[in-house]
Amino acid sequence: MRVPILAANWKMHKTIGEAVAFAQAFALLVVDVAHAEMVIAPPFPALAAVAGALRGTRVALAAQNVHPEKQGAFTGEVSPPMLVDVGCGYAIVGHSERRHLFGESSAFVAKKAAALLAHGVRPIVCVGETLDEREASRTFAVLEDQLTGSLAAVSPEKAAEVVIAYEPVWAIGTGRTATPAIAQEAHAMIRGWLQKRFGATGDAIRIQYGGSVKPDNVAELMAQPDIDGALVGGASLEAASFAAIVRYQENAK
Ligand code: PEP
Repeated sequence: MRVPILAANWKMHKTIGEAVAFAQAFALLVVDVAHAEMVIAPPFPALAAVAGALRGTRVALAAQNVHPEKQGAFTGEVSPPMLVDVGCGYAIVGHSERRHLFGESSAFVAKKAAALLAHGVRPIVCVGETLDEREASRTFAVLEDQLTGSLAAVSPEKAAEVVIAYEPVWAIGTGRTATPAIAQEAHAMIRGWLQKRFGATGDAIRIQYGGSVKPDNVAELMAQPDIDGALVGGASLEAASFAAIVRYQENAK
């Protein structure tokens, strides 16, 4: 009942030319894909060009960040209406790099998620524990805290439009993927929290796993009952690699 969603987070990679070349090559590689939603999140300067390259395909466009206000004196920021204007259907918020490198709080993430929903853009809300927090057996407490804070302004009516990305910080960009069992354990906890917070809608919310997802480990992760997709960094930078991730079913054992 939950349509799988595979998303590429390019972070601070690719010029406009490189991004368009990827989009054109990738669109051809996945032209027959109907089992999943596909999303690409280029850096801001490439959004308009990638939107053009993806027109007429089933691949959606995402931003990597947003500011909650509609407009104003916020130098360097980009607003939800600007994302709508350029063709974004999704935006990533609360990525661990924004939380840890740029000091973003769950309260700020909550404002971004609410602003996106108000403008019809679907937020991909990232949560995840650090290695220290996991080793101190605080994983569930951290996830609960981040979910409570980051989804504070989401109404049950809009909740189905939200995507959660569970990204253990110790697995991001490290080559160290959570085992399917470890990921499923966290996803099941998140599912329970969503059901408590949003009732039956909690069953409809997609929960992506993120953290060193690659073509050779995605199928076993996707086989878990509460893993509904992946948010992919490094392995999404090559069209063939991200296409192989999208086609995880063909590699399933
Ligand atoms: C990410 O950027 O969200 C991510 C999971 O990165 P990587 O796949 O490189 O670990």
